[in-house]
Amino acid sequence: MYLIVSPSMLKTYSLCPKKYKLRYVEGIRQVPTVSFLLGRAIHKGIEILLKEMASIGICEEGIGYQAFEDYFLKEAREKGVYVLPHEKERLKEIKKIDITPEWLEERFRDTGKEVFGMIEGELKRRFGKEIEEVSDIEKEVRFSFSEIAEVLKDDFWRMIPKGERRDVEKLLSCVEAEGRIDLCLSKSEKEVIDFKVGRTIRNYDVSSDEQLSFYALSLLLKEPDIREVKTSFFLIKKDIWDIFKETKALYIKGKRRREDIIRYLTEYVIPLVRGIRDGKFHKTDKDWMCRYCFYRWEGYCKGK
Ligand code: SF4
Repeated sequence: MYLIVSPSMLKTYSLCPKKYKLRYVEGIRQVPTVSFLLGRAIHKGIEILLKEMASIGICEEGIGYQAFEDYFLKEAREKGVYVLPHEKERLKEIKKIDITPEWLEERFRDTGKEVFGMIEGELKRRFGKEIEEVSDIEKEVRFSFSEIAEVLKDDFWRMIPKGERRDVEKLLSCVEAEGRIDLCLSKSEKEVIDFKVGRTIRNYDVSSDEQLSFYALSLLLKEPDIREVKTSFFLIKKDIWDIFKETKALYIKGKRRREDIIRYLTEYVIPLVRGIRDGKFHKTDKDWMCRYCFYRWEGYCKGK
């Protein structure tokens, strides 16, 4: 068995192994949900905006929004957009609205204009001065876990019980990781930044977020002597349905010490990869996961 895992694959497995199986083993693709597509389209707009700032120092007003709209329209027309049935019902009940493709397209445009009207200025304020420090924007990374173990040497192996070392060595030799780092500032300070979009901020914890740990891990591979990495969120709080009214951008700083990164590897990545290797694909015990699950609504799984 040879596995290539990304932070989102690991997250899916950690939340529901059965969902992982449907998506990544059986290959049943989900139609992108509204919130997924909104998040991807905002990422695209930010990527173009920052690249423009990094390459010519300034950026034309509206460039982020335009990239957002182009991305959304292309994806929605090619793959469709999935509105979860309970979201549809809620909107009908609260706002007396029946969602049609035209209404949704318009809603996306209004949301994009509102978000980029706010964050263009925020991004310039936050990253304008440091733009020369940007080393990577939406950079793809790929590495093998054996490489990581080799770089970390004793710091890593002393965390693995003696009796498990042979199995861990074998396991790591057949796993690669791939992912994308949203933003990395690395000239004077080592800082990785993840852009998140969500309707509430309570779901995001900068000190334990696995995506940020993954970013920090890939930085460690490039510079093995790093003792600490700054790990931050640029959070965009927005509800596309406009039920939670507030639109806000928050920059939240955190950090990962070398030992936190190793713990991420030994306590999070290894048990998950072991579960995947051993074919443990049980259902989640989290009700809320099933409530938001495409596979349940489309009849692939009955849920918990
Ligand atoms: S419906 Fe629930 S148990 Fe089934 S795949 Fe989705 S999240 Fe997992």
